[in-house]
Amino acid sequence: MVNPASCPFCGIIAGYDASARLVYRSQEVTVFFPLEPATRGHTLVVPNRHVADLTDLTAAEGRDLGEALLKTARAIRSGLAPDGLNVIQSTGAAATQTVPHVHFHLVPRWPGDRMTLQWPMGAAEDDQAQNRTLAVIQAALLNEASTVGAEDRRQHLSFIQAVVTRMSQASSASKSWLLPIVTVTYGYAITSKSPFVALLGCLAVLVFGVLDANYLKQERAFRKLYDEVAAGRPIPAFSMNPALASPAGTRVNYWPDWPDVRSWAVAPVYGPLLLAGLGVAGWLFCR
Ligand SMILES: [Zn+2]
Repeated sequence: MVNPASCPFCGIIAGYDASARLVYRSQEVTVFFPLEPATRGHTLVVPNRHVADLTDLTAAEGRDLGEALLKTARAIRSGLAPDGLNVIQSTGAAATQTVPHVHFHLVPRWPGDRMTLQWPMGAAEDDQAQNRTLAVIQAALLNEASTVGAEDRRQHLSFIQAVVTRMSQASSASKSWLLPIVTVTYGYAITSKSPFVALLGCLAVLVFGVLDANYLKQERAFRKLYDEVAAGRPIPAFSMNPALASPAGTRVNYWPDWPDVRSWAVAPVYGPLLLAGLGVAGWLFCR
């Protein structure tokens, strides 16, 4: 624990500063007025733990701060009815951080108030440089994801498992829907001697076959994602994008690939049904 005398915010949190105007204090956060509010209602939201750098907060502290910010912003809005509100957080001397304890400023705004906040005109980097910067941050984000805890990983795996289960249920549902359709169309084609009805049945087989092959393809993609997450590869936490488990640049579309079509769950089921329909149609045409 930091000596409250050396950090003014820790002093306020510990209750040593009797002059502080405390809005409220919970188990996790403390909300109070700064020494010199910039506008009417200017409020600080800080974590109770002494952390200097924003990026050193835990995920739980981040959530608590987010909730406190929202709650306080709503109270300021309903109590003071400002025309606007700035949320300002500064980390590091270059960003004008002065007190080394993470804090968020909530600054209610009115036209012509004392506050000045000026954004520079134009972009800091040209288009190409922006794309490179984007790639650097995204790559760092992937590394970030590899530090997720065991509990989060288990939860992520169970989400993926649920999709795999749903895909295989959808696959068996498409088979059980198709069988009565085929029986009725082929049977009706024979009794009414209409080859076109038989062809309609074939079309149904094709549509259901493609659907089923696609379910299989998605199931495979998610199984691969499951394996990657289970192996601790850098997949962003809770991502459900199976493309991340494939080599870079691979796009996961909804058109089944040949191995999906050829699979034991697709070709041996839909192939004979299609051949039977074509046989019925051919026989009716040639009669
Ligand atoms: Zn502190």
